[in-house]
Parts: sequence; C-alpha cells; structure tokens
Amino acid sequence: MRKLVMAEEPICRQCLAEGVVPPRATAVADHIVNQAEGGKTVRSNYQGLCWPHSKAKTAKESGIRYDGDLLDAAAVKHLKQA
Ligand SMILES: [Zn+2]
Repeated sequence: MRKLVMAEEPICRQCLAEGVVPPRATAVADHIVNQAEGGKTVRSNYQGLCWPHSKAKTAKESGIRYDGDLLDAAAVKHLKQA
C-alpha cells in the first residue's frame, strides 16, 4: 500500500491543503482514520504525508502538544510521562 500511495501522491496532501510553499515530498502512507479507531486498511483511508505532517498528526492523535518541532520517540516518551 505504501508504494501505491507514494506513487499516486508524491506530494504531501496536508502541505497542499495548507498551501505550504514549497510543498514537501510524501514520506509516509498515513492512515487517515487511525487503525486503533477502526480505520480500515483500504486505499481510501490512506493519504501521503511528509514527515513533519505525519509527526504532527501522530502527536495530535496521541494527545501530545505539537508546536512545530519534530518529536522524536524519546521526546514523546518524556512528554507522556510528564
Ligand atoms: Zn506536509
């Protein structure tokens, strides 16, 4: 699925939606609705996202504040403990 999404959406969907200039390249085949929330593994539930937008979405879904910096795994762990 990742290959298909990246082939069909080489540019991050969220960058295009926000008008980011220049839009970043897709790095992740993202589940629009998280699998944990019942999202299905079908093409229509995937979107191409760049790393920053993927990280921001993941952080949002995890209830973690995201203020523009990339959150690495260690930072997320730290925030969850705080
Ligand atoms: Zn993006």
